[in-house]
Amino acid sequence: MIPTNEPLLAGKERQYVLDCLESGWISSAGSYIEQFERNWAGYCGMAQGIAVSNGTTALQVAVDALKLGPGDEVIMPSFTIISCALAVVRAGAKPVLVDCDPFTYCMDLDQTAAAVTSRTKAIMPIHMYGHPVDMDVIQDLAEKHDLAIIEDAAQAHGCEYHSRRGGNNAWRRCGGLGTISTFSFFANKLVTTGEGGMVLASDPVLAERSRSLRNLCFQPRRFFHEELGYNFRLTNLQAAIGVAQVERMDDILARKRHMGARYNEGLAGVQGLQLPMQRDWARINYWMYAVLVDEGRGMKAEDLALALKKKNIETRPFFLGMHQQPVFHEMGLFRDQKLPVTERIYRQGLYLPSGLAITDDQTSEVIGAMREILS
Ligand SMILES: *Cc1c(COP(=O)(O)O)cnc(C)c1O
Repeated sequence: MIPTNEPLLAGKERQYVLDCLESGWISSAGSYIEQFERNWAGYCGMAQGIAVSNGTTALQVAVDALKLGPGDEVIMPSFTIISCALAVVRAGAKPVLVDCDPFTYCMDLDQTAAAVTSRTKAIMPIHMYGHPVDMDVIQDLAEKHDLAIIEDAAQAHGCEYHSRRGGNNAWRRCGGLGTISTFSFFANKLVTTGEGGMVLASDPVLAERSRSLRNLCFQPRRFFHEELGYNFRLTNLQAAIGVAQVERMDDILARKRHMGARYNEGLAGVQGLQLPMQRDWARINYWMYAVLVDEGRGMKAEDLALALKKKNIETRPFFLGMHQQPVFHEMGLFRDQKLPVTERIYRQGLYLPSGLAITDDQTSEVIGAMREILS
């Protein structure tokens, strides 16, 4: 079976982990944590990094650091993982869902602008499958209405966005484009620590709040608490893996782009198959090689997935929109909402094996199988 994802631990991961074991620094204190935070924040162009236990808790910390709560609205795409809506709902605030762009799968920006109300406090752009959101538009909107931007870059390690805002003309890395940004380092992300995440912020107050929330809101005066926090700490062992991964970032991106180029070339011209696209202002990372089968083919993503499975190729379906989730309907949220693009791409989309350990032979095999099934 060709797996959807297999991580690649090809650098100094083992050496750094052994260093932790030998020195005894295995908990959430230790030099690898600080190095990981510093190196990743620096890579993304943010002043501070706060390593946390995963990408979901990173979002929870970000939402809490901004003090979002009852009465506040956060505009976000419906087409995403539940972690995004969960963080907002758990804080007592309200997610306001918009549909997505049919080509980049990122949030629809006209709908985002139209969704702003007097209660809106933040926008949560998410760079889907490694395609950046058009962040200049989000930043203009945020500035106009005094909103925070929670940038979920969990699928966008190393992606770049070309900003022209305010006379700028520069490529900037995703994760450095929000008021606060979040990453996941789960095993299928470009940088992995097994489980892990990070919050990035340049505002020292937000960074300090995030640091405090991560660690039970301890005050300088020990066991004296003015707020409720969490234990969302990452271990030095995990951070050691992260440090080794970040050192290899250029190689990681090169491998992903090599894989993407092979798929692009091999699948070009297949009728009724939409391949990942790249806007002029974006440099994508092919986090997952996502494809969409045209409705006109009379085939759904699940049919294609089954046919590929018979050929020993594993795939994953697209996200089911947040507005279609039973758990939120139960809470009285999004019941009558219709978001046609999100609904259609859920039916028609899947992603192909895209892990960092994938070989040229494997991509060839996937291409061959796809061509056969879709011929
Ligand atoms: C993976 C992911 C998360 C959640 O990260 P975990 O580490 O699995 O908790 C959040 N947001 C997005 C966009 C993701 O892709």
